[in-house]
Amino acid sequence: MGVRYRDPECECEVEYPGARRLWCEHCRTDGPLPGSLADPKWEQRHNDPAVLREAAERLGDGDPLAERLLTAARQLAGDPA
Ligand SMILES: [Zn+2]
Repeated sequence: MGVRYRDPECECEVEYPGARRLWCEHCRTDGPLPGSLADPKWEQRHNDPAVLREAAERLGDGDPLAERLLTAARQLAGDPA
């Protein structure tokens, strides 16, 4: 379960060889959206309703991704609505 989502503002690049991550301005200043694929710990965090709610809060009301995250958070928390 959980939801895989990209941080819409992330522009990090990966440098080869070695797959070294070059952090973008957004991730360096604000940090990646919690639990998004840009988050280095997303694998642990994208299943955590609290993390998804935090990410939705950062995106703000009316953002379609925020709506999706809140729905996923409710399902992960065991609320059928
Ligand atoms: Zn980034």
